[in-house]
Amino acid sequence: MRTHYCADVNEELIGKEVVVAGWVASRRDHGGVIFIDLRDRDEVVQLVCDPADSIEAHRVADEVRDQFVLIAKGVVRARGEGLENPKLKTGKVEIVVKELKIENRSLPMPFDLDDEKVNEEIRLRYRYLDLRTQRMHKIFKLRSKAAMASRNSLANQGFLEFETPVLTKSTPEGARDYLVPSRVFPGEFYALPQSPQLFKQLLMVSGFDRYFQIAKCFRDEDLRADRQPEFTQIDVEMSFCTQDDVIGVAEQLIRDIFNEVDLGDKVPQNFERITYKDAMEKYGSDKPDLRFDLAMVDVIDIFERSTNEIFSEIAKDKKRNRIKALKVPNGDNIFSKRQMKGFESYVRKFGAKGLGYFQYKEEGLKGPLTKFFSQEDLDEIIKRCDLKVGDVVFFGAGDKKTVLDYMGRFRLYLAELMGLQNDDEYRFVWVVDFPMFEVEDGKVKALHHPFTMPKLNSEGKLEYSDVEDIESIAYDIVLNGVELGGGSIRIHREEIQEEIFKILGISEEEAQEKFGFLLDALKFGAPPHGGFAIGFDR
Ligand code: ASP
Repeated sequence: MRTHYCADVNEELIGKEVVVAGWVASRRDHGGVIFIDLRDRDEVVQLVCDPADSIEAHRVADEVRDQFVLIAKGVVRARGEGLENPKLKTGKVEIVVKELKIENRSLPMPFDLDDEKVNEEIRLRYRYLDLRTQRMHKIFKLRSKAAMASRNSLANQGFLEFETPVLTKSTPEGARDYLVPSRVFPGEFYALPQSPQLFKQLLMVSGFDRYFQIAKCFRDEDLRADRQPEFTQIDVEMSFCTQDDVIGVAEQLIRDIFNEVDLGDKVPQNFERITYKDAMEKYGSDKPDLRFDLAMVDVIDIFERSTNEIFSEIAKDKKRNRIKALKVPNGDNIFSKRQMKGFESYVRKFGAKGLGYFQYKEEGLKGPLTKFFSQEDLDEIIKRCDLKVGDVVFFGAGDKKTVLDYMGRFRLYLAELMGLQNDDEYRFVWVVDFPMFEVEDGKVKALHHPFTMPKLNSEGKLEYSDVEDIESIAYDIVLNGVELGGGSIRIHREEIQEEIFKILGISEEEAQEKFGFLLDALKFGAPPHGGFAIGFDR
């Protein structure tokens, strides 16, 4: 229906006839001559409807309203001097309309399409209009480019694209499944896959060597800003590989995507790595935001020597408990006394029993807690936390899990208050050496999923005294405190898989019923393999 997209109407076409099609972005009647901004997917072009050129087109233009659908035929001409619009690609020209057809009319818009602050409920109710805005088009174009770049990157790296079933059996990521009743087998259900995890492992057993899929996944979890019931993953699996090989593929993929969307200079030459243990102990999170430091320091041994019984008691159990110091450089000048008191109520929300702090003044450390420490130990705190005059140092004490959690949250809260999270900075980090299991209320659970390879001793055996000390070959890629994705090397030998199920308290029958086909497949020459998945929209 058109000869040109609006964006392509430029000076080269001056004097030529064109046909454009799109929606009315605005219409202005300048005493006899009507100007219409016509928008298609990519750009706006100005239509001029002058009765001197076509009485009929001018008559139609008179009826036109915002968001009507038009097809316009006319001749391109240069805009008059001083009337150019440098903001538009088409800003040097306009179309003198000879024929104008209203292809469809529109009700008045229920909200102003140019206003970014419109209430979300209205926007979602009229989602198709929301998606007609330039802002949304920009996002969807970016998304399409990124998907294409992912495909190209993985194809270039030797991966084949697959589709795996959506009506399937339950998969093991640990969320709740969505169920679909079967008509043919009344009372039976399909589960929608939480990820293609089992399928991609089976494809490795089938010898495909390198698999990828831009896959829809379904998890029945509570909504959060970055978590939806259905979402898309770039899902990857490969054979005969080490952790470094898999990480290499993921880094190349990220580099290629960022290059495609003109953010290539944000991706580092070498990605940082941090162990899970360090991430937790220093930043209180397995997805640390490293754009700023504010790292925690261990002071449990110093507090053990204090004359405060609560602290010295906590400090006795160094395996289960933690006492952590968090220094805020220049905090004394940044925060008022009242604000510092308020921090305590912030951490209490996450289980803290209190929040002690010292201020480092010219005269030395000040604060109600100082009286419990010897001068040597106060000096040791200054040294260990590398304090300068004006700094404030906060302390969290209690059981390990609670302290690391609330101090980690407190760290982010402080960073937000201090404006330390720069949106133009991209700080990637791999978190490696995740524990294999976590124990909650006495129940052992797989931290990643039960097919993750645990670290084995030199004889290829699982050796441990405490299941919580078993590490796995699992890794997450984190950007600015957001987990983009993760993966692991998988178990490819049946006897190790059985041992893991045993630790997880999954009986042979249950394992057979749930994952029998995978366990059987491991008996038929499964190669060493591993992979990862990245949440595409993240
Ligand atoms: N299937 C895993 C997940 O969705 C990712 C992986 O291990 O490849 O979390």
